Amino acid sequence: MQNRWSDADAAGFVARYGAEWGEDLALRTYTSQLLGGEVSLVLHGGGNTSVKRTVTDRFGDPLEVIAIKASGYDLATVPPEGHVAVRLDHLRRLRSIPELSDEEIVNELRTHLLDAGAPTPSIETPVHALVPHRYVDHTHADVVLALTNQVGGDDLVRAAMGPDVIVLPYVFPGFGLAHAVADALDAQPDAIAMVWSKHGVMTWGDTARGSYDAMIDLVTRAETFLNSRSGRGPVLSGTDSRGQNEDLGRLARVMPVVRGLLARSTDDADRPWRRVILEAVTDEDVVGALEGPGARSLLVSPPLTTDHLIRTRPWPAWVDDPAWGDTDRLRAQIEAALGEWRGHYEAYLDRHRDRLPDGVATFPPTPRMVMLPGLGVLCAGDDAADARVVADIARQTVQAKVQIAAMGGTYDGVSEAHLFDMEHRTLQHAKLRAAVDPPLAGQVVLVTGAAGAIGSGICAGLLADGAHVVATDLAGPGLDSLLTSLQAIDTHRALATPLDVTDPDSVAAAFNAVSRAWGGVDAVVVNAGLAHVSSLAEMDLDRFRALERVNVDGTLLLLREAANHFARQGTGGDIVAVSTKNVFAPGAGFGAYSATKAAAHQLARIATLELAPQDVRVNMVAPDAVFSHEDRPSGLWAEVGPGRMKARGLDAEGLEAYYQDRNLLKAKITAAHVAKAVCFFLARPTPTPGATLPVDGGLPDATPR
Ligand SMILES: [Zn+2]
Repeated sequence: MQNRWSDADAAGFVARYGAEWGEDLALRTYTSQLLGGEVSLVLHGGGNTSVKRTVTDRFGDPLEVIAIKASGYDLATVPPEGHVAVRLDHLRRLRSIPELSDEEIVNELRTHLLDAGAPTPSIETPVHALVPHRYVDHTHADVVLALTNQVGGDDLVRAAMGPDVIVLPYVFPGFGLAHAVADALDAQPDAIAMVWSKHGVMTWGDTARGSYDAMIDLVTRAETFLNSRSGRGPVLSGTDSRGQNEDLGRLARVMPVVRGLLARSTDDADRPWRRVILEAVTDEDVVGALEGPGARSLLVSPPLTTDHLIRTRPWPAWVDDPAWGDTDRLRAQIEAALGEWRGHYEAYLDRHRDRLPDGVATFPPTPRMVMLPGLGVLCAGDDAADARVVADIARQTVQAKVQIAAMGGTYDGVSEAHLFDMEHRTLQHAKLRAAVDPPLAGQVVLVTGAAGAIGSGICAGLLADGAHVVATDLAGPGLDSLLTSLQAIDTHRALATPLDVTDPDSVAAAFNAVSRAWGGVDAVVVNAGLAHVSSLAEMDLDRFRALERVNVDGTLLLLREAANHFARQGTGGDIVAVSTKNVFAPGAGFGAYSATKAAAHQLARIATLELAPQDVRVNMVAPDAVFSHEDRPSGLWAEVGPGRMKARGLDAEGLEAYYQDRNLLKAKITAAHVAKAVCFFLARPTPTPGATLPVDGGLPDATPR
């Protein structure tokens, strides 16, 4: 592993933070970020760092504290305030107490912070405090885990690291680990570092650089040893070939099936499913590993570190010899594999249930990783960010297990009892309980005509309510800039894909793209539309047909594709068609629009009837007089506005005021209002299909009854 220490960068941190925070904490920040930048050391939050220092207390007296990384900070980006001060004398005295629960540790930490408002220090703080050295670094280096997680692993670590590194057999993380570490250091005070079997590494030093150098040196020793024993190049350490080797058609076909089967049923009749988001790992080396000899027994095994359990569950599901050519058989195979997993998981829960802590509920019995030889690993999360974490862990875990097999070793993870205890550790469950799902959590919503005024407003509203949003429109700068602005709101929950609603292949391609990215689509907002002003007497047939293609054919194609997609996924779905008041109150000179939108509206009502049996709810919203959203002008009003301004002798502002004055509430209608109406239907607070919700401030002629 490359040592990335740079005197210039270190001096930069001191210059930036030294005056306010002190040189020691500035350098602590620097090397913490260096470690955090190495994915193979601290994958998704694993690891923590500390520095012991003297501060001045309220009375002007010197006070020894440990500044330790607080939970909620990522080492890669931790700022100086991410290391919070706890009284060191108190933590050292805790050694005289034989046992403390996680909750008791947190209480001791929180009551001995210097800043009462600081975030909670890492649960591993007592371990750091009982190491006498000034700087302490702890990571979950994957190469070290590849050594410890095999039969005879502790001896391999000794062989790889040499006698000056202590090897601690697996100890359950928590207060017991602090005792074990302190005892081991008493027995070997001149040790340079410590490996905790099936957990990670700890190094220390009198300087930030010393402790960092020791970490890099140790990991390098492990790498060299692994590579020499396995006769392979370094497949570990941050290899990321995301996106290679994708069998696009296969992925698009399989992911909605898996996603549907992983959705768990709820006891809410209106929202019967809590869905997951998928990410596929299809890297060449991972796919290769799935097809290697003995792959199933090697890979269907516990995680590298118990830190991963909350994300991954104890093992992946495995589909034997998938029948790629036979969709029905493949579905049955996947269903059977998930059933088999569920059986194993429930038996495991039953074996250990007597140790389930009070107030902790078990997880729903669904896997988070599904391995399909010939395709890859499908990874599930509550949202796209979560699925990405599971995917990264899956990639790293497969590589480490393959490395172990290549050196002739037998993988040996944490024992089942410890898996159970870590999976149900109360602190982590308390964090999970504190999180409240937003109304559209887990829902993937595809919006057509998203680059326009109403479409872009709907996308923003959906994101705000927790949906995963797929913005679609004709390819071009309008769609590109929309994606940029949506990703500025949420990097993980916004996608864009080009879609021409008049082209069946384009519609299918967009659904396939979403299936590959997130696993499937749960709701469609049929919003793309065209307008044209002309009397019937002067109607240009080509213009009329252009409106038919977008407004009528486009609606039909979306309804058709959605119906088939929802059936494949098997978890119902929602469709909201953006209709118009012109369906109920058509306008002279506006026949092409009024007639084609009426046809679209009627198609949506038919869909309501046809799709209700599979719990697909179709509804309509009917906005009026939405002129723009942020900097996006309405295409409809670009077409309609000039003529109406001329007819009424108004400018653009005057026209907007005219329409505002026309409705009962004198309300200015915005795209955000339309978004709220769409979100209402998608959140399903009432059992309502086939409804039209006007968003128009009240237009008596056009109110559907
Ligand atoms: Zn740890």
